[in-house]
Amino acid sequence: MRKTIIAGNWKMNKTNKETIIILTELKENVQKIDGTDKIGIIIGTPFTALSDAVKTTENSNIKIAAQNVYPKEAGAYTGEISPLMLKDIGVEYVILGHSERRDYFKESNSFINEKIKCVLSYEMSPIFCIGEQLEDRETGKTNEVITTQIKEGLSGISSEEAKNIIVAYEPVWAIGTGKTATPEIAEETHKEIRKVLKEMFGEVAEEMTVQYGGSMKPTNAKELLSQKNIDGGLIGGASLNAKDFSDIIKAAL
Ligand code: PEP
Repeated sequence: MRKTIIAGNWKMNKTNKETIIILTELKENVQKIDGTDKIGIIIGTPFTALSDAVKTTENSNIKIAAQNVYPKEAGAYTGEISPLMLKDIGVEYVILGHSERRDYFKESNSFINEKIKCVLSYEMSPIFCIGEQLEDRETGKTNEVITTQIKEGLSGISSEEAKNIIVAYEPVWAIGTGKTATPEIAEETHKEIRKVLKEMFGEVAEEMTVQYGGSMKPTNAKELLSQKNIDGGLIGGASLNAKDFSDIIKAAL
């Protein structure tokens, strides 16, 4: 059985104070919702709030993710954060390959691959984001683009390691735009993603969580999450307040 995982990506939002307030409310909400022990709940905060986020969510099933990492343990890399530093404060997941990092910071598939391997070696789980641009979809290149992202991003990774990777399919044209892929479009691409994962990792692909991301909100979550190959969501905007995020968690149950 694949695990449904609902994850929030706060991007460059929320101070420490705000993080503690929202996560305290979310923790209380989650405690009141039946069945949340059967799913995964993750929040990706900015680096500066990670430590307080881990402390605030102690004794709950909310886990904390970083939104990036530099793939070295330590050294002369001014401004960067290492996997050792994340592990040390109790971070369990790292969002990698997000389209904003691919676009604004020119992260390549091979650099993302290096980060994924490094995160796995510290026994944290990558949330590996993939997704096509609008132009790719309009020119029929979606499958080609995501196949390349998966093959290069997960190159050299064993089936055993793949069990600890969450894949997030995020069509770039649907991120932060209010445009959601229809459940049918999303499911079709998720099926293709699972096919590529199967070619690489065999039966393990059936156990891998593949989330959908792109303007998921309380009003469309249920329909998207009811698709056979959609095993959760990576949520930006609607994860910024506890009420909306809790409603999406309810839709997943
Ligand atoms: C994201 O950035 O991962 C995302 C899915 O954002 P939004 O939900 O705001 O589209």
